[in-house]
Amino acid sequence: MSQPMPVLFLGHGSPMNAIEDNAWSRSWRQLGQRMRRPRAILCVSAHWETAGPKLTGNAKPDTIHDFYGFPQALFDVRYAAPGDHSLAQRVVDLLGEDIGARIDPQRGLDHGAWSVLLPMYPDADVPVVQLAIDPRQQGAWHYALARRLAPLRDEGVLILASGDIVHNLRLFDFHATTAPEWAVRFRDTVNSHILEGRHAALADWPSLEDAALAIPTPEHYIPLLYALANGRPGDALEFFNDDVRSSISMTSLLIGTP
Ligand code: ZN
Repeated sequence: MSQPMPVLFLGHGSPMNAIEDNAWSRSWRQLGQRMRRPRAILCVSAHWETAGPKLTGNAKPDTIHDFYGFPQALFDVRYAAPGDHSLAQRVVDLLGEDIGARIDPQRGLDHGAWSVLLPMYPDADVPVVQLAIDPRQQGAWHYALARRLAPLRDEGVLILASGDIVHNLRLFDFHATTAPEWAVRFRDTVNSHILEGRHAALADWPSLEDAALAIPTPEHYIPLLYALANGRPGDALEFFNDDVRSSISMTSLLIGTP
């Protein structure tokens, strides 16, 4: 049997990373070149929140510019990757009838998806399906839901979770080159829990020290649980972009063999 596909969690930070040449966007470009080519990508992004799970089902998903106050060049970006309705249906089936996941035939790709996919796969030739997150649900629910996606790694699908482990926009200073103590401490706590496989502690994020500051709203943290839940015993773990700028972390994780 061939190697299962790896799993990614990417800290995406500012949408500008999509079009800026910086250490983070370069790492995404290198990842795209270094990894085996997936048959399709299932992206769990912080920027699509729904009541109950939804999947994008459009054959030609639009590029959604879900932000304000950025240069026109960012609004001009079109990421024309095809959708994959059969993958969306496969995910609905894997999640199970009790979950009641639905396919949204209209929804496009948000910047949590395309800001990292543009550097990774600039030709936009790998089909992409997004899975929305339900922010009302607790971490244990998300983790258990994500476990149901386990077969996808053996079907050539790259599970790509996109968020930010530390994400407090209210306290964010665009010009800062350093980070407050609490943000670095929270990053270190989460990293050590990841390394030690303490997923239950990570799923119970409100109990983590500094969580009120690092995760004032959970949508950017929740994608991490989808990546971790799809790790397997013996998978290699590689941290990269492990930077905290002001109140946002870029910490990213490659799980498994690229
Ligand atoms: Zn974001």
